[in-house]
Amino acid sequence: MLENINEKCAVVGIFGHKEASKLAYFSLHSLQHRGQEAAGISSSDGTKLHTIKDRGLVMRVFDEEKLATLSGNSAIGHTRYSTAGDDSILDAQPVFARYDLGEMSIVHNGNLTNAEEVRNKLIEKGAIFQTFMDTENLIHLIAKSSKDKLLDRIIDAVQRIEGAFSLVFLSRTKMFAMRDRHGFRPLSLGRLPNGGYIVASETCAFDLVGAEFIRDVEPGELLIFEEDKAPQSIKVYEPTPKHCIFEYVYFARPDSQVFGQSVYQTRKEMGKELARIAPVEADVVIPVPDGGVPSAIGYAQESGIPYEMGIMRNHYIGRTFIEPTQEMRDLKVKMKLSPMIDIIKGKRVVVIDDSIVRGTTSRRIIRMLKDAGATEVHMRVSSPPTTDPCFYGVDTPDKDKLIAANMTTDEICEYIEADSLAYLDEESLLRSVNSDMQEEKYCTACFTGKYIV
Ligand code: AMP
Repeated sequence: MLENINEKCAVVGIFGHKEASKLAYFSLHSLQHRGQEAAGISSSDGTKLHTIKDRGLVMRVFDEEKLATLSGNSAIGHTRYSTAGDDSILDAQPVFARYDLGEMSIVHNGNLTNAEEVRNKLIEKGAIFQTFMDTENLIHLIAKSSKDKLLDRIIDAVQRIEGAFSLVFLSRTKMFAMRDRHGFRPLSLGRLPNGGYIVASETCAFDLVGAEFIRDVEPGELLIFEEDKAPQSIKVYEPTPKHCIFEYVYFARPDSQVFGQSVYQTRKEMGKELARIAPVEADVVIPVPDGGVPSAIGYAQESGIPYEMGIMRNHYIGRTFIEPTQEMRDLKVKMKLSPMIDIIKGKRVVVIDDSIVRGTTSRRIIRMLKDAGATEVHMRVSSPPTTDPCFYGVDTPDKDKLIAANMTTDEICEYIEADSLAYLDEESLLRSVNSDMQEEKYCTACFTGKYIV
């Protein structure tokens, strides 16, 4: 099996700005939540591409000296998140290659569902791969295409891949941005303050560099950036939107506009819906930080129960989810979250989190709140039970590790030792995300098992 290396990443592209690599670097900082395992930037000075990538946080990978070597008016960047696979720097992005038309670099967010099939065919024809990344397939497809121009080769290549992809390509003189036909993963286009353009996984990157949001790259659309021209658009596929609903639930930053609406407001709405469908008598509403914060605010506003910060988060510890063993995960949860005893002692607490995946976090938190003197702990989750793994770019474990795939809500409640447990249902989630109830527009496979591709 090909490793799912391109999960949950962030991409950025800067075109037509004399400080391109610096802007890419700043953007990557604001996209760091989408991946902390590796980071990289390729820039073009018009004659040559320059690439730096390494394991670790953006802050660790780059310094002023390194950025100075990434010269040129265009740059693309990436942060990588992965659970499995080789930790080697080879698996960091951008993926760079020299080929018959020159040089190119690619960054990718998403997961290709036919990656193994494509790779096996390429290997049969003599291709040699250096990494486990499905993104490397694209390099080969482009290099082997019989078309004369890079643009046509890119179109040729993306027509052979399936699944979820938000891609940015950089050549010596051009940049290309492409989103799969379903628009699973976000990708937005903006205008830089002193000329030039930016594309990024989330609009929080635009705010940081002072860019103005223009619009989302459409599902199935390819944008071409060339010097002194407005971006050109080609419809490679008829769009059939299936945006990832989990971007709203957990993944995107609250200050981003994703798929046309505010992540923060959407999450708050989920909390309000949750208060309507699963009320409880309690003294205080507290979030599991940071994911549960906006929905806990919504729950508190709707229920009238006071909102408090009942749990402190230590921000200097990475995400607990990525640790391979249960023992390590337990330990990391303890290190990461600690109770505010003054807020909790003697109270009936409603604790809100965005999701329960394996159940480890909730079980640990509820025990912690009870140890801190809570008289009752009611768990409320601002998404439906996570019952099915994602093949389109969000990292979820196999079905046998998903607690909701293997236990009823009552059994989970007992397992996490809560006094009560309730989830948001699918209909309420869709209502919070989209008041028109256009459920057609969203992929909800992690909650429903209804896979599109
Ligand atoms: P668990 O302990 O496995 O039940 O994980 C639940 C916690 O992980 C919740 O607090 C979520 O905010 C968080 N979470 C949910 N999905 C993911 C994901 N794909 N990657 C990292 N963390 C996640």
